[in-house]
Amino acid sequence: MITRRDFLKLGGAALLTAAFTKLKLSQLNNPTAPILYHGSRRYPRVAFTYDDCQLVTRLHMLEDILNQHPEAHVTLFPVGNALATVDQKDPGLWKRFYEKGHEFGYHSFYHDNLALYKPQQVVNDYDKWLNALTQVLGTQPTVHFARPPYDIISDPFMYMCGQRGLVATLFSIGGGGPSSYVMNAIRKYQNGDIIQFHTREQPDSQDMTSTSQAIPFFNGLGVRCVTLSQLYDDVLRDQFNSNGCEVGAGASLTRTCLE
Ligand SMILES: [Zn+2]
Repeated sequence: MITRRDFLKLGGAALLTAAFTKLKLSQLNNPTAPILYHGSRRYPRVAFTYDDCQLVTRLHMLEDILNQHPEAHVTLFPVGNALATVDQKDPGLWKRFYEKGHEFGYHSFYHDNLALYKPQQVVNDYDKWLNALTQVLGTQPTVHFARPPYDIISDPFMYMCGQRGLVATLFSIGGGGPSSYVMNAIRKYQNGDIIQFHTREQPDSQDMTSTSQAIPFFNGLGVRCVTLSQLYDDVLRDQFNSNGCEVGAGASLTRTCLE
């Protein structure tokens, strides 16, 4: 697993790797944190991510699918105001996801466009979100990833990521729309892809149906569905390799190559 120290130390160097080059960094005044679009292309792993997470009925559908595939892990990006309301409707729901090894990332408290916030307001919003998450989990989880509402990477959002040691996270495959469309996109996957779903299941966006089809698809190919932290481990490993370190030497590389 990646330590918080690895994350903090990697901030600057990680900006140089291929995974982070899509955004024109010149558009940002102050890019103070890594921006992740996908993981390493070298390892057979992908990450399923779920934004918003407001509807208990859809979360139950996701929970059922994941219970049928205990080897698959996902990352949830719930908004802060969904944390308490969902927990009131089904106490312990978030805890059940957490205890089964799924990961949580920040997606703002109110789903506002954070580009309109002052930088310190985003930091406060993150702290409020983390506090709400800690309340429903009964423990403070380690959070590594943040995805801005509407996928808008802005200076205030990046400031918060820098202050709190988070990786700004977007995606390489959009998982919205009818499941036949989504599966067409998924069949053209590459290793390391990050798929953005929402907790939706309705005629125009069948994210749960797509999930139930995509997990067996990847299983059949020997591609593991992992959390973003597991996917990011591969990015860090590539980072070490590109710095001339030995491949596959594991955690010792943290000391050998980064200090
Ligand atoms: Zn959202």
